[in-house]
Amino acid sequence: MEKVDFLIVGQGIAGSLLAYFLTQNGQKVAIIDNNHAFSSSVAAAGIINPITGRNFVKTWLADETIRQSISFYQQLSPDFYQNLPLVWLLENIKQVNDWQILSANEHINYFINTDKKLDNHLLANTYNEVLDNVILAHTGKINLVKVLNYFKNILSKGVYLEEKLDFKQLIISEKVYYKQIITDKIIFCEGYQATENPFFNDLHYNFAKGEIIIAKLANYDFSAYLIKHKGLLVVPLEDNLYWIGSSYDRDYQHILPTEKAYYSLKAEFEQIYKGEYEIFSYLAGVRPTVRDRKPYLGQHKSIKQAYIFNGLGAKGSYLAPYFAQMMADYLLGKTILAKDIDIQRIYKKQN
Ligand SMILES: Cc1cc2nc3c(=O)[nH]c(=O)nc-3n(C[C@H](O)[C@H](O)[C@H](O)COP(=O)(O)OP(=O)(O)OC[C@H]3O[C@@H](n4cnc5c(N)ncnc54)[C@H](O)[C@@H]3O)c2cc1C
Repeated sequence: MEKVDFLIVGQGIAGSLLAYFLTQNGQKVAIIDNNHAFSSSVAAAGIINPITGRNFVKTWLADETIRQSISFYQQLSPDFYQNLPLVWLLENIKQVNDWQILSANEHINYFINTDKKLDNHLLANTYNEVLDNVILAHTGKINLVKVLNYFKNILSKGVYLEEKLDFKQLIISEKVYYKQIITDKIIFCEGYQATENPFFNDLHYNFAKGEIIIAKLANYDFSAYLIKHKGLLVVPLEDNLYWIGSSYDRDYQHILPTEKAYYSLKAEFEQIYKGEYEIFSYLAGVRPTVRDRKPYLGQHKSIKQAYIFNGLGAKGSYLAPYFAQMMADYLLGKTILAKDIDIQRIYKKQN
């Protein structure tokens, strides 16, 4: 048998960073992951964006998480984080006014470049319906695929099972047993696949599928920017390829890309984009969103050896460092969890 301190199920961004913080504390960790099959982290753009929604609101915990996550990824490797200003294209007077009100708010100063913007005429050569634009500061892109591969390389030097966890072979008694692994604690970081987990499938999930297209844009002038226009984000990848998306579907039937979303994204993009482009591929992922939009951290209501770290929603790339560190500290008895993220909040409502 292989004795470890913790067994983590899922090596998406949540499981990877939890493993990182635990091993940094001298703990021995085993990982099981089914080769990132349909991992949300693989489909994500990995954007750090402090302002979202039609009404331009600062996202939950932006101040606490964004600085920390940028420096976290930068310290791991300069390859993991690319600083890219996010240019928000405004299409009507209401949006321009809303931005003026927002930028007058000192709580947002850190995230808005009030004195900078792109030339509206230049933008209008490429994009339709541009009245004005604003540039956000401290925005950028985390290369999640590189981050996951980096951790996979490190973690697979220890106990790493590349397979789908077979719940029939998981025994939880005084200790936790799975095949050759024996441990005291198992932590589930399965993303949307948590619905298949018999221990935690009574938590409320509200998963949202997102579909995207990857396209080659000819003679595109904004490769140094993230462009947000109407409901779409255009994110530079490599070799003139761009991540364009994404849809937001709570009523999905399956997790594969669909023709319906493909054509609808294509139509949406053509409505805003004037240039030539060629679609290279399209893919889908499921955001592990939760009804109250707060992550799930904590211990199972009755099985003391079982824990969950999930529900990072649509912002997992930059929430993950903050909450993975918190979850590791909690597992090591160094902290308690705040009520609004502890899963006990859900169990209390069930009683
Ligand atoms: C289209 C789209 C765009 C997004 N864009 C952004 C963005 O720009 N910025 C941002 O911050 N966030 C974004 N997100 C959200 C972000 O991707 C998620 O919050 C984050 O990736 C969740 O990570 P996770 O580790 O919880 O889940 P996942 O990445 O899904 O990882 C779960 C892992 O567990 C494994 N697994 C599950 N069950 C089992 C099992 N039984 N046995 C073995 N392995 C198992 C899976 O294979 C997977 O590798 C986006 C999401 C989508 C879908």
